[in-house]
Amino acid sequence: MPERAAVEERIRVYRGEMIFQAHLFPEIYARYQEYRRRDETAASLRELQTGRLRAMLTHVAAAVPAYRGRVGDPGDPWAALAALPTVAKADLRAGFADHCDDGIDPDRCRSVQTSGTTGEPLRIVHDFEHLAHAYALGMVRTHDHGLPLDRRVLYPFHSALDRWFEYTAPAYGLSRIAEFGAVGDEAYWVDVVDRVRGYRPQAIVGHATRCLELADLLTAHGGRGFPAPGIVSTWGERLTPAAAERLAAFFEAPVRDSYGMGEVGTIAAQCARGAYHIEGERLWVEVLDEAGAPVPGGGIGEIVVTNLINRAQPLLRYRTGDLGALSAEPCACGRPHRALRLVAGREPGRLRLAGGILLGVRALALPLLAVPLARYQIIQRRPDLVELIVAPLPQTTAAALEKARDQAAAAVHALDPGVRVELRADGAFVRRGARKMEEFISLVDDSLVDEPEGASG
Ligand SMILES: [Zn+2]
Repeated sequence: MPERAAVEERIRVYRGEMIFQAHLFPEIYARYQEYRRRDETAASLRELQTGRLRAMLTHVAAAVPAYRGRVGDPGDPWAALAALPTVAKADLRAGFADHCDDGIDPDRCRSVQTSGTTGEPLRIVHDFEHLAHAYALGMVRTHDHGLPLDRRVLYPFHSALDRWFEYTAPAYGLSRIAEFGAVGDEAYWVDVVDRVRGYRPQAIVGHATRCLELADLLTAHGGRGFPAPGIVSTWGERLTPAAAERLAAFFEAPVRDSYGMGEVGTIAAQCARGAYHIEGERLWVEVLDEAGAPVPGGGIGEIVVTNLINRAQPLLRYRTGDLGALSAEPCACGRPHRALRLVAGREPGRLRLAGGILLGVRALALPLLAVPLARYQIIQRRPDLVELIVAPLPQTTAAALEKARDQAAAAVHALDPGVRVELRADGAFVRRGARKMEEFISLVDDSLVDEPEGASG
């Protein structure tokens, strides 16, 4: 049970955050209205980006130590940007002050800590202007999804608290937000199910695994029991096609995933066609090869982001560590924003079995996705040993885990009966490198991890 002090602390932090958002709301709403009026075309978006990039480069040349004397003629901002070095997380950590605005106004910015799988936190400073743009574009997305701004949002299994918690978030369009914690006994879960049904969420928001857990929890208590929400909005993990299908079927709602990171916020969000459109009003995205050169023609490389708005700690050509590709074709939905194809995670990797036979990891991941879990990971320790590491939730049953293990083992044994498939429910995940949320790691053969997949939706 969490201590009372922890609960009070969380409530205090939330109140502070909501008051902050309320102060910022007039700016957010003004930006929202501006963006709604724009009715962007490819040409108008490019013009907006060019102007914003030029202003950003002029700013960093004058006020940011890392860039003083190093920026070319901002008359051609795209050439000047391409000539700048890329920046990695380690550069920001080592040279925090050098990457900040010398004239930073502490009353108009806030610092956030991002985590990441390396466990080393990174401090990022967002100015209010940037926050207002980011929140405003989130509100535009809500409008495009056909939802009212003051919708009822549910964050399932959001905290380690043993309670239901509601508040109003000005920055999300004065939306009502309800969340519940992942810790509790059977009486708690009965109460949570009751509250979810009474709340009738219009948007369910969270990691795909948490949204799936909600589906499992409701199923275990007799079914959904409330009208179909307008959207299931996932983020923070790569959404597998199987998970998307299951969520869409259970909630009878469109599922839209987004991709982002604490350093810059949302980078791209899915449209109705499933394409991840880049938030081009705020961000410029490049896809670079290992030598730092642009990958031509929709090829796969590292996603590198430039923030066009945030002046407090400008991120220019920031290496995300994620792999992707810029789509060469415009999306049929008509948005002029370029679409990003996220490569890693579609097929997390392949196991190399006896005789060099390869097995897609998805065959092992699917049974695990059918079980309510806080997280899972598939590790190939040795050529003949695969471990399924899981962090169970209170409602996870031993029988469900055993069934998932048996199904995963069957998929492996169909190709190679000599491989042992073991389940570990201790949540002792393997961490490696900077890429977040690694669902598969081969300790046998690194070349098999994050291999690009040919087929895409
Ligand atoms: Zn689209």
